[in-house]
Amino acid sequence: MRSLRHSSRCVMLLCAAVIGLPAVSPSCKGDRGADSALTSPNRQAERYRMVDQYILPRGIKDPAVIDAVRRVPRHRFVPARYSLFAYIDGPLPIGHNQTISQPSLVAEMTEQLKLKKTDKVLEIGTGSGYQAAILAELADRVLTIEIVEPLARQAEQTLAELGYKNIRVRIGDGYRGWPEEAPFDAIIVTAAPDHVPQPLLDQLAVGGRLILPVGRDVQTLELHRRTAEGVERKRLTLVRFVPLVRQEEAEK
Ligand code: SAH
Repeated sequence: MRSLRHSSRCVMLLCAAVIGLPAVSPSCKGDRGADSALTSPNRQAERYRMVDQYILPRGIKDPAVIDAVRRVPRHRFVPARYSLFAYIDGPLPIGHNQTISQPSLVAEMTEQLKLKKTDKVLEIGTGSGYQAAILAELADRVLTIEIVEPLARQAEQTLAELGYKNIRVRIGDGYRGWPEEAPFDAIIVTAAPDHVPQPLLDQLAVGGRLILPVGRDVQTLELHRRTAEGVERKRLTLVRFVPLVRQEEAEK
């Protein structure tokens, strides 16, 4: 047990060295977002470096999206034992077999939504709350639905601690959308259904955009735009998300 722990610490230290982080091991206190691992409590320098290393090279150009990624403290959304890796461009476990998405993919999906400060946005798959925070930096209001109750509660707490007042978290099956709050200027789905949920298309305002991964193992990222005549669809790239589960499956 001891040597296992020791070796995993060594791997972390090695990774830290490779990506140029201070060589300290992460805190394992079990509290979220502990800053103790690193010298700067806010870790802004790491976010700037992440933007330079991963976000700009991916072709993200919207200055508002870039600013949002520089502002939102991703380390506060990951369990403390992964805190050291918060500014590497990869997904990380958040418990309940779910992950926080890769930052460059969060940025790309957000950019595709072309958000305005007046927009009302729906997110399906709150997870850690990180994507919701990015959206909240750019839009007027964000409503987000999570099917795993403890994740929803944890995300709500993190977002409250960070002072976000324009985000509402709901527990439930996001396949059905949030009809009482429709229409939405933008909808983002961060878990993959095997087809486009019709309720989400129905809840788009005219001019509204829906971005989501569609498929089973590897998915295609699709962008839908509601027009006065119908819906336009664009296929963007291949991605990999956790599956969107339906309420009946979640209750089994
Ligand atoms: N956006 C998240 C990452 C999402 S991971 C973040 O920024 O951290 C996908 C999330 O979708 C998981 O938390 C999973 O529990 C949730 N999910 C899966 N099916 C769902 C459904 N039908 N409705 C709402 N949430 C769902």
